[in-house]
Amino acid sequence: MKLSSFGEKLTKKTGILELMDDLGRAMNTEKHLLMLGGGNPAHIPEVEKIWHKRWNEIAENGDELERLLGNYTTPQGDAEFMEATADFFKRNYHWQISSKNIAVLNGSQTAFYFLFNMLAGKFSDGTEKKILLPLVPEYIGYADQGISEDMFLSVKPSIEFLENHTFKYHINFDEINVSENIGAICLSRPTNPTGNVVTDEEVSRLHTLAKEHDVPFIIDNAYGAPFPKILFTDVNPIWDEHIIYVLTLSKLGLPSTRTSIVIANEEIIEKLTSINAIVSLSTGTLGQHLVLPYLKNDEVIKISSEIIQPFYQKKAEKAIAFFHEQMQGSEVDYYLHKSEGALFLWLWCKDLPISDYELYQRLKQRGVIVVPGNYFYPGLQEEWKQKKECLRITYGQEEEMVHKGLAIIAEEVKKAYERG
Ligand code: PLP
Repeated sequence: MKLSSFGEKLTKKTGILELMDDLGRAMNTEKHLLMLGGGNPAHIPEVEKIWHKRWNEIAENGDELERLLGNYTTPQGDAEFMEATADFFKRNYHWQISSKNIAVLNGSQTAFYFLFNMLAGKFSDGTEKKILLPLVPEYIGYADQGISEDMFLSVKPSIEFLENHTFKYHINFDEINVSENIGAICLSRPTNPTGNVVTDEEVSRLHTLAKEHDVPFIIDNAYGAPFPKILFTDVNPIWDEHIIYVLTLSKLGLPSTRTSIVIANEEIIEKLTSINAIVSLSTGTLGQHLVLPYLKNDEVIKISSEIIQPFYQKKAEKAIAFFHEQMQGSEVDYYLHKSEGALFLWLWCKDLPISDYELYQRLKQRGVIVVPGNYFYPGLQEEWKQKKECLRITYGQEEEMVHKGLAIIAEEVKKAYERG
């Protein structure tokens, strides 16, 4: 079938398609696979109990159920939910916002698609703009979202080596140039795939650059504060008219409700609302109804810091210790990125004799699903050997599965260095 450029662009084989396909098969049909590849949040019984209770409450309250199932909301979101969200951030962070600064969209993946394509690409005056990713590796899900080709421009990080096979990426500000052709700056924090948390100082420098050049600074808060807070270091969330703060309910254990919250200046919210009306008419309200009372009484902070955060931190620490044990005694020059948040370990096998994709294929043959690292460099124009030396490993699933998978990864990594 002959497709338009839009059709061609969105139907070609992409990393995100392969990833979601692997994930869907491992979670639903081929359950023997060790799924260390996707971004599915863990099923945390204490959190599930909260959502089950709330679900029953809604089901028993005929009025609310009828509204939830039977009504479209405005394309900006449910009025009560937007009001409660604005109040929540005013109360807890003193952000000067109202519901006019909030849009609720069908998942943050959709929010990024709208934002990137509205702020970058071709402009009616003939100019073209790009989204600047100040640090790669960066989220695989951005890579193919641009309707126009080459939507991203990204910058290689600097590397800080730490003790015990650990390293951390930093933003290389010497290489960052917010020129005329930059439409917005975007950063995931904590970063998917590395678990890096860019420091408050680095965020503040990016914010200053965004203000100086009058471009929006998009902060992808899929894992950050105040919720879901899969974050193992202290950060200070900031917002002003130049920041577009994107949150999602997914990592609160509600990925299938497809609910994201965008906090931005009123003009950006108006534009997003217009796009949402065209693309979706309106946003699903299940997630908004489930979470509403927990926003109103601030319980969402407690759920995040007292249940979700410690749950993941413990898992990350155990997985890291286990992997180092498996690698003990080997000569392999490997490093794990310092784990500061998100669901992933980022493994760098320095001078790996085979490609990351070959390693991914070998692991898949042995029933372990991970994601090859080279997908995480959207917009990086220069060659960089490290692009083909890394894997993203999800540590959030059941411990037995994660350990089995990590043991096989360690074996295959060692084998690759011994035999190629
Ligand atoms: N941003 C990051 C960094 C992610 O890791 C994800 C999903 O894993 C998303 C955005 C999209 O999440 P959702 O569309 O479920 O809100």
